[in-house]
Amino acid sequence: MLAPAALPAQAGAAQRLDRGRFTFVAFPKDLPLARSLLDAAAQNDTFPGLARPVAHVLVAIAPDAQRFREWTGPGAPDWGAAIAIPDQHRIVMQGSAAGSDAGDPRAVLRHELAHLALHEALGDLPPRWFDEGYAGYAAGEWDRSDVLAASVGLVMHGIPSSLDSLEDDFHGGASRASGAYALAYRAVSDIAALDQRRGLSLFFEYWKQTGSMDRAMRQAFGITQSGFEAEWRTRTMRRYGALAVAANLTVLFALLAFLLVPLLWVRRRRDNRRMAVLRAVEAANDRAARSSALDALLASALKTPASPPPPPPPGTRSAPADEEH
Ligand SMILES: [Zn+2]
Repeated sequence: MLAPAALPAQAGAAQRLDRGRFTFVAFPKDLPLARSLLDAAAQNDTFPGLARPVAHVLVAIAPDAQRFREWTGPGAPDWGAAIAIPDQHRIVMQGSAAGSDAGDPRAVLRHELAHLALHEALGDLPPRWFDEGYAGYAAGEWDRSDVLAASVGLVMHGIPSSLDSLEDDFHGGASRASGAYALAYRAVSDIAALDQRRGLSLFFEYWKQTGSMDRAMRQAFGITQSGFEAEWRTRTMRRYGALAVAANLTVLFALLAFLLVPLLWVRRRRDNRRMAVLRAVEAANDRAARSSALDALLASALKTPASPPPPPPPGTRSAPADEEH
């Protein structure tokens, strides 16, 4: 179904672009995207710690969400922007019609190409967490760490007891999965940092030779896998635990504010009503004070003149007693 000849017609026929080990297949509206992705892939075709990949890769760009789902199959998560099928050296990506939550297409492609490169070098040896962590590391997904800094899961459940236990989280809905991706990303970048000079290259070599991640870690870094995981847990909690608590406190305050605002509003309304009564009383007092002042003025005015004031001309009404509005 992915082969160019079998692609269904959609606003013109799908076209293929070839360069080096890459073949891109895209419909006309996605050709500019395909070209820029092909440039990026060809220009940056090495992956940390691995020999330059040689396997031919087919990248199919799906013109719409429906086609994407058809091509990736029912196993793909809804939130995925792309999927790599390492056994077939294929990648299916969303095209220019994808929403912004699909991410930067170049970074997405680089992530999927890293999966293929890792698979080409090590076959099925890497567990899921390493596979995802490595892809994120190779694609420079630094912002993955931000997820940890605000992770409710990190505070609620702490760091998972082992990296292998992340496995379920990759399938556990978008937010759980993004936490798992972030933890996996951190773990792989921490492994790469164990050897400042050679990074992951010796480790990958030993892993391939021995078929064991634990033995490769011992040989490359002088640390056992369980030793690394224990250290990694402590470090991650130290690094992100406080931030996560702070982030969650912010959420808590926002929630409190959300709950308190209606209460304050009710109170304010009650206060407003009280103020209105007070104002009415005040106005009445004012009026009383004013009229008594007027009385006093009139009284004194009536007393002072030697002769009474002339009567008002006929036809005019006396000034109203009440205040004017
Ligand atoms: Zn991935």
